[in-house]
Order: sequence, then C-alpha cells, then structure tokens
Amino acid sequence: MAREPRYDILFEPLRIGPVTARNRFYQVPHCIGMGHAYPRSAAALRGVKAEGGWAVVCTEECEIHPTGDIAPNIEQRLWDDGDIPMHAAMTDAVHAHGALAGIELAHSGHHAPNLYSRLIPLAPSHLPYDGYEPVQARAMDKEDIRNLRRWHREAALRAKKAGFDIVYVYAGHDLTLPMHFISRRTNDRSDEYGGSLENRVRLFRELIEETKEAIGDRCAIAVRFAVDELLGADGITAENEGREVVEMLAELPDLWDVNISDWANDSTTSRFAPEGSQEKYVAFVKKLTTKPVVGVGRFTSPDTMVAQIKRGVLDFIGAARPSIADPFLPKKIEEGRPEDIRECIGCNICVTGDLTMTPIRCTQNPTMGEEHRRGWHPEAIAPKGSEDGVLIVGAGPAGLEAARALGARGYGVALAEASAELGGRVAQECRLPGLAEWARVADYRVSQIEKMTNVEVYRASRLSVADVLEFAPDRVVLALGARWRRDGIGRRHHEPIPGSEGENIYTPDDALDGAAPAGPVLVYDDDHYYMGGVLAEKLKAQGAEVVLATPAPDASHWTHNTMEQSRIQARLLEMGVEIVPLHKLAAIGLGEVELECVYTGKRTKRPAASVFLVTARLPEDALYHELMAAPEALRDAGIASVDRIGDCLAPGTIAAAVYSGHLYARELDAGSNLEVPFKVERHALQ
Ligand code: ADP
Ligand code: SF4
Repeated sequence: MAREPRYDILFEPLRIGPVTARNRFYQVPHCIGMGHAYPRSAAALRGVKAEGGWAVVCTEECEIHPTGDIAPNIEQRLWDDGDIPMHAAMTDAVHAHGALAGIELAHSGHHAPNLYSRLIPLAPSHLPYDGYEPVQARAMDKEDIRNLRRWHREAALRAKKAGFDIVYVYAGHDLTLPMHFISRRTNDRSDEYGGSLENRVRLFRELIEETKEAIGDRCAIAVRFAVDELLGADGITAENEGREVVEMLAELPDLWDVNISDWANDSTTSRFAPEGSQEKYVAFVKKLTTKPVVGVGRFTSPDTMVAQIKRGVLDFIGAARPSIADPFLPKKIEEGRPEDIRECIGCNICVTGDLTMTPIRCTQNPTMGEEHRRGWHPEAIAPKGSEDGVLIVGAGPAGLEAARALGARGYGVALAEASAELGGRVAQECRLPGLAEWARVADYRVSQIEKMTNVEVYRASRLSVADVLEFAPDRVVLALGARWRRDGIGRRHHEPIPGSEGENIYTPDDALDGAAPAGPVLVYDDDHYYMGGVLAEKLKAQGAEVVLATPAPDASHWTHNTMEQSRIQARLLEMGVEIVPLHKLAAIGLGEVELECVYTGKRTKRPAASVFLVTARLPEDALYHELMAAPEALRDAGIASVDRIGDCLAPGTIAAAVYSGHLYARELDAGSNLEVPFKVERHALQ
C-alpha cells in the first residue's frame, strides 16, 4: 500500500549540517538501561529502530570522563579508546539500515556521585550531589574547565572514529554541566563563567564551538537544551533565559533538540499530560534559528506530526517512547498502514528499566530489550511449527497478545472471553482517572486479530471444564487474570488483617465493578504501584471523604520509578485526600480502623465506614487446577498441554502479562529453556 499523500511531508529528506536525514523521524537520545554493560543488546535495539524507518537513531547519554560517572545507573561511556568498539557495533547496526547514528555526550557534574570511579565530582560551585548520597562536588577552577573542554573534544573525536554522524552537546534536563553552569541555582561563580547569562552560557558555547571545530567537517553538532524547567522565576523559562540562550546560540549548532526539564516533566505519563504537551514551551525556537529543530511530545498520530511541521513548530518529529512502543512507526506510515501502529500508552514502564538499573521493557512492545538476547523482532516472528490448534481462555493483555502473536505465526487460534468486551483488566482500568490511553493495549491487539482469518474470537463465553473438554483443542492456554485479595494479606501482612471478614471491606475489583460505598473511606495501599493512588482519586472525585494509608513513605511509592510519584501525591493532596504514610492497617472495626506506626508500633484510631484493601492479588486459576485434576479426560479430548499465562500464572504488571503472552507464543513449538533462557552478555577479561 502506498502512503497517503498528506503524510509525504514526513518523508522529506532534511540536511543537518554535513549530513542528511532520509526523513523527519528522529529517535532522540533515550535511556535503555543497557549502556556500557550490555553493548550488544544496545546495538541490536538501536538497529531495529533504524530498520523501522527512523532517519536518526541516537544513544542514551554517554559519559565522557570518569569524573562524570553516574553508576549505578547504566549509561554509555566514551572514557577512552577502549570504549570505541562497543559504539562502533551500534553505528554499524544503525547504518546497515540507512539511518544516521547520533551520540549524546555528557558530563553529569554534581549529578554524578562517582560511586564507581571514586573521583571527586565537579560542579560550577561547591554543591552536594543532587540525590541522597553523602557526596559533594567541588567547584571547578580554570584548569578543571580546560580539562573538561579537552575531555569533551576527545570524546567527540572518539565518537567520530566510532562512526557517529551526529554528536550532541547535552544541556537538556538539569543533569549535565553545561546546564549547571547556565542555571543561576547552581552557579555562584564570580569569574567569566558566572554572573551574567552570557557568562553562564560561556561553557556551553565553548563546547559547541570546540566540538564543531574538532569533528564538524563530517559530523553534525546537535545541542539538547531544556528551554523551560517548570520552576517559574527560580528556573530557566521559555519566556526569559531559555529564550535568551537560544537567541545567543541560534546559528551555532547544526540542530536544536529542545525539550523541558527535568526528565519527569519531559517524559510525563499520559495520566498527567497529553500528546504534544511541550509545544507551548518549545514553539518559539524555530522562530529564532534557521537550523532544524527537533522536539518530542509522545507523538503517535501522523496527523499531529504533520500539523507540528506545517504550523512551523518542529522540523523533525522527535520520539523516545513512541519509538520504543513501535520501532516500526515510520515504516507503517510510509507503507500506508498507520492503523497498525502500536501506540505508546504513556505508562513509563520503559523508564522503570533505567531507574532500576536494568534493561528496558515496554508495556506495548514485548520485544523491546529482547532484540539481542532472545533474538526477538517487533514485526517478524517464526511461522508455526505444527498444525496444533490453540484455545486461549481469557482476553486480557496476556490472552490478547498470545492470540495476536500465535495468529501471526499462522496457528489456528480460538480466543474465548467471559465478558462481552475484550481487554480484561485494561478494559476496566482505562476507566480510572487519567488511564484512558491504557485502552490502547487492547485496541492494538484486537485490531490486529480482527484482520486474521485464523483467529476466532468468542465473546461473552465463560468456559467451564466441560466446555474446554468439549472444544478439545490440541493446546489450552489459560489467561484468566487475577482478583484482588479481600483479606489484606500482602507485603506487610502475612495473616488476614483483623476485621477484614466484615461487610465494609472492598477491593479495587469492587470499585471497577461500580461500587461507591459511603465515606469516610480508608484506602489501604500495601501494593505501592498506581492502584491505591488512582482509587483514592476516583473515590474522592465521587464525593467521599478519603484517607490513603500506606506502610510506605509516600503514596504509590513505586511510581517514583515511573516518575509520577510527586504528581500523584500532589494531586491527591490538592483534591483533599489525606495521606497517612508509614502506617500499617492493624485492625478494622465497625465505623473505624486502627493504624499502626511502622516504627514505634503506636496505634491510632480513625473513622472509616468503608475500607478498600489494595494489597495483593490471587490468580484466577481454578479452571487450571480442575483441568489438571482430570488427566484422563484431557487425554481423551486430545489436549496435549494446558498452560497458564499472565496474571493467571502470577499477578504482575500489564507489561508482564503482555510479555508472558508473547513468550508463550514464541515458545509454543520451540520449547522453553529452563536453564538460562537467553544469551548472556559477558565481558572478556582484558
Ligand atoms: P491478564 O492481565 O493476565 O491478561 P486479565 O485479568 O486482564 O489478565 O484478563 C483475564 C480475562 O479472562 C478477563 O477478561 C476475564 O473476563 C477472562 N476470564 C476469566 N475466566 C474466564 C473463563 N472461565 N472463560 C473465559 N474468560 C474468562
Ligand atoms: Fe510507552 Fe509505556 Fe512502552 Fe514506555 S513502556 S514506550 S510509556 S507504552
């Protein structure tokens, strides 16, 4: 199929200094939790993006020197020539598919605790490390600044040697030295690098000029700059200093990659910001420079992309998350099938890989991060290895993904779902406040399955053991999901919470089924991901008095890893939800509960007419156990295997359920490896 002419503009080649991008799709630098630790994995991941049609594919940030060592975070390194080969593997993989390779050189200043290198961090002023490590950076003297400039120049030369086409000077977010110099908050110098904005920009300017001078003959020099920190007068804003910096340096770099700071503002979840939300901050940049401008906005709609270009906001459509959820997004538009795009849902599970110092994963794209170690490709999958017919019971994320992937392999699949609606938990949870985009997990899969003649879908079909035996498929896969516990057992409680057998007890499943009990309501969150917080928000919006109690230090504690926690807590507080952290739910009575301080054990009573327990879930696996208890009946029916996937096997994230369904489909005839089920990257002893 040919692409629609209205999208032609997205496929125009565009010059960036000495190089030319084949189209306007630009994968901006983004973390993948692989970096120097898993270079083959990183190269394969970036190569797949190039294959998917992105014109530019960049690395994550790349440390230029061990004084800017951000271990235990795993980013790239170009400390010396020894690091060049791992980068060459990435540029080769990207070039093999006709894309340009970009690298984001960085020195993280007082954001680098140097826990590995044990060197003293560097900063414009004497500053503590910006996390909680008991580390302090020293103020750089003139020699330090000269050294930094030399390290940057040398790293740029190595980047050129490694084959990069675009080399960044990075002042995006508030994470690197050029930004620390620019910012009044972190620069109290009185020399020519401090004081006036012109002085504070001096280092950034020097780095751009010197990088250009060193490698500008063959490489384009890009800058990444955060034009607004969303800190009002305390920070850089698009109205004042952000704008002035762009004015001062307008024609100096070959490309402006502009965003907002910090990372949590730049990669906001869909719960808190829609597609294209950065436009109001970055739109001015193109008016001040003739150089191409790239920006991000979790763009997944080609019409929105075209509008960004036609309205003169951006020249390149920048993407991190949309390229993670669908590395083939450009190709699908080019081939006239934009409806096949696997749209990012804005959940930030991808970010959790980096923040937990592990390789990236994605809710929508189960192959993300598995390109090298499992050899998975986002679009290609082996044809079926047998004529087996597969019955999948349950059409949540796990069942839908198994059906889609098995269908793509050519298997005959029957998918039975008890409800009239497909999607399981996402069909329900997408009705919670702010989670509407999560419906895309089901939408993408349902739309793909509908095109397949070898996948039959049976809605409103709750299957019993007798139904399964009567259906008599070769293989049965149970994707029946899980239900929230009603007894309070979870991370902190290993026995039922006293009083949890009462009638005033509710679970998130009750809320999703429409229960709206009288207040005051206590939401007890011992789960720590989104559900407790989003439930409190929903109940408060329905008019109840709501207290959120949790043994954790703050609401929805694990969402620090999705960079949402402070927004969640702020929203709850603004709505009038009282948050009681660091307390266990000791007992539930009639009309009241007893909370217990996790440190002192001191108990306090609070009124609560209804209690929502958000603690843990139990698999819905009765059907599995009943089937397994009837081996003869299975044999008579010719059923060769019965497996569980997703929450039915072990309750987890939606990402884990999708992955589980995908893994089942990949391994149906290949057999699973119960030893080490993937390639392990090991470093040769030097
Ligand atoms: P997962 O996240 O593992 O995909 P979900 O809870 O989202 O799990 O989905 C499980 C789905 O299974 C739900 O849509 C539920 O209605 C369906 N289901 C549960 N039991 C049966 C059954 N016996 N027959 C058909 N569908 C079922
Ligand atoms: Fe988008 Fe979520 Fe995938 Fe990240 S993990 S790319 S936010 S769908």
